[in-house]
Amino acid sequence: MIYTPPKVPCGERSGYPCQRLVSLLSPHCGDRRHFPGANGGRPVARNRPRKIGLTVAEDYDLIEDDFPDLDPVTFDARRVWVTRPALDAWGRHHRLLQARIRLALTRGGYWRTADGGHLLEIGRHQLELSADGRYCVGYVLLPVPPPPPCGSPIDELRAPQWDLAAVALSPHAVRQFAGRHRVDEDTAADELFDLLDDAAARGKRFRFASGEHALAVDGFTITLAPDGATVVRYATVHAERTPSDVRDKVPSRYGRKHRRSPARWAAWMAERDAAVCAVQPEEWVSTGQIAGCFSPDRARITAGVVPHDQAGRAAEVRAIRERLRRAASAGRWSAGPDGCHFLAHDGRAWTVSPNGHAVLSCAPAWCPSAASGYHPGEPAEGGSGGDAAARAAGP
Ligand SMILES: [Zn+2]
Repeated sequence: MIYTPPKVPCGERSGYPCQRLVSLLSPHCGDRRHFPGANGGRPVARNRPRKIGLTVAEDYDLIEDDFPDLDPVTFDARRVWVTRPALDAWGRHHRLLQARIRLALTRGGYWRTADGGHLLEIGRHQLELSADGRYCVGYVLLPVPPPPPCGSPIDELRAPQWDLAAVALSPHAVRQFAGRHRVDEDTAADELFDLLDDAAARGKRFRFASGEHALAVDGFTITLAPDGATVVRYATVHAERTPSDVRDKVPSRYGRKHRRSPARWAAWMAERDAAVCAVQPEEWVSTGQIAGCFSPDRARITAGVVPHDQAGRAAEVRAIRERLRRAASAGRWSAGPDGCHFLAHDGRAWTVSPNGHAVLSCAPAWCPSAASGYHPGEPAEGGSGGDAAARAAGP
C-alpha cells in the first residue's frame, strides 16, 4: 500500500519490442535508446498512425510538484552541487559540468521525470538533477543516435527527385524538438511536419559536405539525410518559441507548466490539492493501517499547510517533510473527522487525508518563516547565512 510508481512494459512507451518492466521514474529501461516516444527507432511517417509511447508526464498524475520546472533565465547552475557518482562519470572539473547544465537549460532538451527530477540533454550529454534542483545526481554520455536507413543521395531538395509528402522524422529529431520546447512527442511531430512544409515553401536550402541537406526558415533549421527522406536533426536559435509561435505570432496553445504565470500556477496547484484530497469512502484506510500507507516523502503538502504562492515554499516543504519523517517514525496516529487521520508528534498534530496521500493542515499552524534559508546539509557554496535560520527552525 506504500505509494509506489506504476511500471509499464518498456515497449509501451518506447515502441521497441522490449518487454522489460520499467518504472515511470526511469528515463529508459536500461537501454538508453529506449526513451519514451522512441517509436521503436523507426522514422515517424506523415499521416500514418504513430506508435509513439507515453510521454512520462501528467498521464500518471504522479509528478511530485513541490517544485516547478527549472526556468532557463533565473536558474543558477553554479549553485548545483555535483554528487560523487555524477562527478566520477563526468571525469572533469565540476565547474565544467555546471556550465554544461546551464547550456543544456538554455539550448538543449528538458524533461521532468515522474518523481519530479529534471532530465537535461545537450548533444550527447545527459544530466539529471534532483527534484529541488540542488543536486546533479547523474551524468551519462549518450550513444550516437542510430542513422536512419538511407537510400541513394539526391542533389537537391526539389521535385521530382524529392518527395516532400514522403519525408519522415527520425525519433532523435522528435526528441530534440520535444525536449527543446517542452512539449509532448505528438505535438513535436506535428510541429516538425508543419515546419518542414513551411521551410520547403519559403526557406533557404543548403547542403553539408557530409551530403546531408538542410532547410532553414525564421531561425529554425532542419537537417535531412542525404537521400532527403528523413529529418535527422532539429535546431533553433530561438530561446523558447516554437515554429508555430513564430509563424502565427501568437502564444502556442500547447503551452505547458513552464508557461504558467505564478497566479495560474497557484490555481492549478489548488486544483491538484482538491483532486488529491477527494477520497472515496471505499478508499479510506483504517487507523491501524494508515502508518503503512503514509509516506512523508511523497505525501502532497497542500495549501492548508503552506500556501502554494508563498515565497520560499520549497524550503518550507523540505523542513515540513523532515518533521513528518520524525512524526511518522515516533508519533501517534488517531482517527479524525470524515475519514481523516491525525498524526501527533512533538507538540504538533498533522491532519492527513483518508488514504494518506496528502497532508491537509496542522495545528499549531506552520510558521512560514521557520524554515527560510537553506538546508543545513547543503554545501556552503556561495551560501549566505541561511544555515543558521534553518537550524533554528522551531515549532
Ligand atoms: Zn527497453
